[in-house]
Amino acid sequence: MPLPDTLDELVRCSFCGKPTTEVDKLVAGPGVYICNECVALSASIIDGSLNSPAGPRVPVWEWLTDEEMLSHIPRVAAHIDQAEADLRSWVQELRRRGVTWARIGEALGITRQSAWERFSGEE
Ligand SMILES: [Zn+2]
Repeated sequence: MPLPDTLDELVRCSFCGKPTTEVDKLVAGPGVYICNECVALSASIIDGSLNSPAGPRVPVWEWLTDEEMLSHIPRVAAHIDQAEADLRSWVQELRRRGVTWARIGEALGITRQSAWERFSGEE
């Protein structure tokens, strides 16, 4: 996977998929981002001024056509790529600090070898 030229090309809201260039603010969490618009929407749902269709965990599949589901899965896949890139940057910083593959693997619940294979970029 080629690295993006700037962070702006990579970072998108994990909820609506808008890139950082199309929103006022983007708040980072561990591997996820949320834009100011989605925060406002969430606040409206939480304070009750906007009804969430079926509570906190919405079983949206029941209401979607096959076509709608097919158009949605690229967004889910993009989120995985974004989270993977974020994890990679954390691991790269740990390596830059001299933290061993053994400690990184231990933190992730995988072996030193698995950590190296997944994140080192070496064959
Ligand atoms: Zn958003």
